[in-house]
Amino acid sequence: MGDAGDRNLMTTLDTRIKQSIRDIPDFPKPGIIFKDITPVVADPPLFRDVIAAFADRYQGKGLTTIIGIESRGFIFGSALAHKMGLPFHLVRKKGKLPYKTIQTSYDLEYGSATIEMHVDAITPTDVVLVVDDLLATGGTAAAACELVSRQGGRVHECAFMVELDFLNGRKLLKDTPVFSLVHY
Ligand code: AMP
Repeated sequence: MGDAGDRNLMTTLDTRIKQSIRDIPDFPKPGIIFKDITPVVADPPLFRDVIAAFADRYQGKGLTTIIGIESRGFIFGSALAHKMGLPFHLVRKKGKLPYKTIQTSYDLEYGSATIEMHVDAITPTDVVLVVDDLLATGGTAAAACELVSRQGGRVHECAFMVELDFLNGRKLLKDTPVFSLVHY
């Protein structure tokens, strides 16, 4: 194998993810640098390795179900649930889920947001992994954790591909463990 091949083998998952993510300045509003993760899922070996890294971490940990947060949490959460043979449930913005729901509201920079989960998504014996693409301020993930615990489930961890460390999302998640594949 030549130098290029050796280099590819040695490139860590962290580097490959960071090389793939696109920074979009001023989206969706001025001052935000949006981390566009769509190139990661458009790259089959990379997407596969991201899901495998999560599966390696959570195999044998007693998880009973995976929750994905709308909308990019659906991509990673459902792929992981499929790989691990676990049920997958959706946390969605208000008004999108068809069956009976429980809901919670949380503060955004301006105003508030409401998310929902089906009432039969979680049972009191569930050990839950909450998945989203990115942890920013942590408001969305904390609200998702609240929905799980209100239904009697225990959140094992919140898992993200990307964490924006400077926004301190971990702090808002308090005692809930957090794991992210890459940090900015
Ligand atoms: P937060 O509740 O602040 O942690 O926001 C998390 C949600 O907003 C996640 O579902 C992310 O997909 C999205 N999000 C927040 N900030 C960004 C960003 N800079 N780039 C991409 N997605 C973001």
